[in-house]
Amino acid sequence: MSSGTNKNITIIGAGLVGSLLSIYLARRGYKVSVYERRGDMRRERMSAGRSINLALSDRGLLALEKMGLAEAIREISIPMHGRFIHHLDGTTAFQPYGKEGQYINSVSRGTLNTKLMDLAEEAGVSIYFNEKLDKIDWQQERISFENTAGQSIPPSQTGILFAADGAFSAARLQHQLQHDQFNYSQYYIDCGYKELTIPPTAEGEFAMEKNALHIWPRKDYMLIALPNLDKSFTCTLFFPFKGEASFEKLKSRDQVKTFFEKTFPDAVPLMPDYCDEFFANPTSSLVTVKCYPWIRDDRFALIGDAAHAIVPFFGQGMNCGFEDCRVLDELIDKHQHNWTAILKEYQELRKPDADAIADLAINNFTEMREKTADPVFLFQKKIEAKLHEKYPEEWIPAYSQVTFSPHIRYSEALRRGQAQEAIMQQVMRWPGIEQHWESDETLSSIIQLIR
Ligand SMILES: Cc1cc2nc3c(=O)[nH]c(=O)nc-3n(C[C@H](O)[C@H](O)[C@H](O)COP(=O)(O)OP(=O)(O)OC[C@H]3O[C@@H](n4cnc5c(N)ncnc54)[C@H](O)[C@@H]3O)c2cc1C
Repeated sequence: MSSGTNKNITIIGAGLVGSLLSIYLARRGYKVSVYERRGDMRRERMSAGRSINLALSDRGLLALEKMGLAEAIREISIPMHGRFIHHLDGTTAFQPYGKEGQYINSVSRGTLNTKLMDLAEEAGVSIYFNEKLDKIDWQQERISFENTAGQSIPPSQTGILFAADGAFSAARLQHQLQHDQFNYSQYYIDCGYKELTIPPTAEGEFAMEKNALHIWPRKDYMLIALPNLDKSFTCTLFFPFKGEASFEKLKSRDQVKTFFEKTFPDAVPLMPDYCDEFFANPTSSLVTVKCYPWIRDDRFALIGDAAHAIVPFFGQGMNCGFEDCRVLDELIDKHQHNWTAILKEYQELRKPDADAIADLAINNFTEMREKTADPVFLFQKKIEAKLHEKYPEEWIPAYSQVTFSPHIRYSEALRRGQAQEAIMQQVMRWPGIEQHWESDETLSSIIQLIR
């Protein structure tokens, strides 16, 4: 680590990204203060916000590794080696995510956030809770908070300011209101989500295969389940708000019961409380936020979901935010603490990558809910896996580029993925491909097309 400076840094939000960022900067020698709207989740019983567990993959792990935290986080994670598909007729199928030994990790959002906050404090970061951002005075470089616990605190000097306050960032709004030509778009998909639970069995065991991400793909919607350390699964129903099968059509217990028994017959016996949970748990929306610029000169930057909220279908929102922190840290080295240069290049590098993963995530919704049950799509994936095995550098399936290749930029993964997909669309029409797809000649003919 290069030597730090005494400069002050303020971070809004002690979520996953704000907490990790604070560790990076404190270890560089900066004096870091983090202001968090909620109380301290380590002392108060509270949910850590949206979705109870998350898939952590190689990009996120690489960012944690740089801080020496990856091992500690692996210890509180459950490896998921592939998708475990539950078809409507009760049959199941396992689809590995990548090559042997490649997997993603199910980790509790609350446990991860708690651990990162502990490590931040150990690194010398001050975290102030119940402090909700009120106003940023850009001229005076002062920031004020509303203390939600009723104490009043004076405005403070910002130093360098990072907005890590999530998809509905109040800091981004302050930036937007007082920045000429700020571009902003938010796009809600027509599906929302609701969380349900599969508890451990009566014997205290996992009710299904634990080392997998379970999916019940049903074309316009899907149910997924990720394992937890307490041997339960957190299930998420991604479901249209309106239409024939939709949240608006499931108003009574009978309607919910009839729908679930017909649509997810093998999941129902494992979810004793799904009817109660369906009505008790919120129905939440899924939004993509794109905006620009992310920075102001040498003193302000958006990071994590505040800069780029994406839908969760690639399991990359947090991973992308963690990667923001790693890239920023590399730029501190490169530009030797010159923040004008650091922030300028941070934005130039990360904006196209964030846009790319936002688009990839939307596309992956179709893949997960529809195509994981489609035999033609699965055959295409089999050919691609074989190509990857034979030509590991030249052909990397799009999913593996995003999930297991942290040194390939998201924008590059999108470009290469689109080129490969166009080739595969041709290949799938080649006469007799079903018979000779594994032959050296066929695989070599395909790889010629990408060279
Ligand atoms: C259903 C679902 C499933 C997901 N699954 C995955 C997954 O499997 N893998 C993955 O990588 N990502 C996943 N994500 C995305 C992931 O949750 C986010 O990308 C990640 O939480 C972003 O972290 P963040 O710190 O930027 O924002 P947040 O986690 O939203 O944290 C923001 C913090 O700022 C605080 N805050 C907000 N407003 C203020 C204010 N005015 N003043 C002070 N503090 C404030 C909040 O209390 C919070 O602590 C999923 C998201 C959803 C919705």
